[in-house]
Amino acid sequence: MQRLATVLLLLPFGTLMAQTTPPCAQHARDCPAPPVIQVGPAGPPAPPPSDAVVLFDGHDLGKWLGGDNGPAKWVVRDGYMEVAPGTGGIHTAQGFGDVQLHVEWMAPNPPRGSDQDRGNSGVFLMGRYEVQVLDSYGNVTYPDGQAAALYGQYPPRVNASRPPGEWQSYDIIFHRPRFGPGGALVSPAVVTVLHNGVLVQDAVTLTGPTAHQSRPPYSAHPDRLPISLQDHEHPVRFRNIWLRELER
Ligand code: MG
Repeated sequence: MQRLATVLLLLPFGTLMAQTTPPCAQHARDCPAPPVIQVGPAGPPAPPPSDAVVLFDGHDLGKWLGGDNGPAKWVVRDGYMEVAPGTGGIHTAQGFGDVQLHVEWMAPNPPRGSDQDRGNSGVFLMGRYEVQVLDSYGNVTYPDGQAAALYGQYPPRVNASRPPGEWQSYDIIFHRPRFGPGGALVSPAVVTVLHNGVLVQDAVTLTGPTAHQSRPPYSAHPDRLPISLQDHEHPVRFRNIWLRELER
């Protein structure tokens, strides 16, 4: 009885907090800009916990493949990897479903370009659900395309960006969509993101795969798929990438 009361108490609250519909028309530039907050300087890399799968420890791209499933062609130096523009995105050799994913990234300094053409990359869960990487420090774009947006769907709650040339972190809790035996959607993907330790996506419900100028519906896919990083022609850097599998 007490348990039921707790559930009933929490339910409306949870419903209020979680977004299930994007707040604005896609890529709307009049969508309210997330407030800019200051997060202070980056600390040292977050050490992976003992049950983590380490995807990149600064030394090699052994856990990653290129677009043709050949070797990943990005540059590794001084403990980080850097997008080699024009070589294409990279993806993990292994597939994953529900995960807690930690990624650190850095936008190029000095910054070049503006809007979407500035420090653009992306972290794609299951190769199709993008947490946007962008230099959003003093760089205006449409809110559902700025750093830590779920691209084309949800702007972050605040802009917690550090300046280009400083390390930033994403901590992403991702629950994959579930599909029934006939491929029908049973439950959509739900994503939580902390940007530089700040909650920016609070258990939001994806409308389907993320895309540019469209919000396509879900289509059935395997329970585990690679995580990919985007080559958007900008030399964005990544380091210290690890995850914890939430389905065992
Ligand atoms: Mg991107």
